[in-house]
Amino acid sequence: VIKDKQRNHYQLFESSITENFKEMLTIENELRKAIRLSQFEIHYQPQVDISTNCVIGFEALLRWNHPEKGSISPGVFIPLAEKTGLIIEIGDWVLKEACRQTKEWQDKGYSPMKISVNLSVKQFLQKSLVEKVEAVLQETGLNPKYLELEITESMAMSNEEFIMETLNGLKGLGVNVSIDDFGTGYSSMKYLSQFPLSKLKIDQLFIRGQREQNQSIVKSIIHLSHALNMKVIAEGVETKEQLEFLKNEKCDEIQGFYISKPVAADKVESFLC
Ligand code: C2E
Ligand code: MG
Ligand code: MG
Ligand code: MG
Repeated sequence: VIKDKQRNHYQLFESSITENFKEMLTIENELRKAIRLSQFEIHYQPQVDISTNCVIGFEALLRWNHPEKGSISPGVFIPLAEKTGLIIEIGDWVLKEACRQTKEWQDKGYSPMKISVNLSVKQFLQKSLVEKVEAVLQETGLNPKYLELEITESMAMSNEEFIMETLNGLKGLGVNVSIDDFGTGYSSMKYLSQFPLSKLKIDQLFIRGQREQNQSIVKSIIHLSHALNMKVIAEGVETKEQLEFLKNEKCDEIQGFYISKPVAADKVESFLC
């Protein structure tokens, strides 16, 4: 009986591996097709200077327009792209397209805006990242001071020397780096003070929560950023009250549905001055 049970378990285990594997292959194929058929599209969410109320930049947020499934959220497919390694190819496209588009807007004579591009762990840990970024800037003609790369705290946990080298390389190009979703990961204060970073992005979790503890955390992150000579931006700002609080606490920038949801490229010009 025991033997039978083990056998069943084994078969169950084996078939679920096969299923997962099949599923991964399907997704991998779908993602490859998406790249080939240009099913990806970048949406842009405005970032506002809290003291002047001016739009000073945009975050590039990827969308997948699937022919049958409709618009698929990056929260769903980015982790899969990471797992399959396709994030490198997809990420290269996002970086180049976002820089190209931003330069095009700037060339139309609008006051220059920054562009923030998200980098996943695998992208950031590429040996060739700095050269890649340099090549994209050269090809698109975008001034490096308008490019900001968003990384997450989880990256700071891997090879410290390598990260320092990459960050210094990017700084050498004149590109800014910010920490996304700050407060939800594992940043050590040691890294925060040593790494050349230009901005902290306070995670929306702390902005949304109305509890007093959240407000204390937000205040602390704002003070910490300024003490370390960094700028600070709040994500996920949805109400006037949240905006007023952040303004009072001298947060530099805000981003969120209160200003605008991420919009398609052809809707961006209405935000530009
Ligand atoms: P993120 O970089 O932290 O981006 C912020 C997310 O919050 C976006 O979701 C945005 O649409 C959403 N958001 C902005 N304002 C508000 C608000 O006021 N309220 C609420 N409830 N949500 C708001 P989205 O576009 O679904 O992206 C999810 C995540 O996917 C991003 O989080 C980022 O980690 C990842 N991602 C998106 N595009 C890319 C990309 O091109 N490359 C990589 N590696 N990751 C990406
Ligand atoms: Mg981001
Ligand atoms: Mg974020
Ligand atoms: Mg996030």
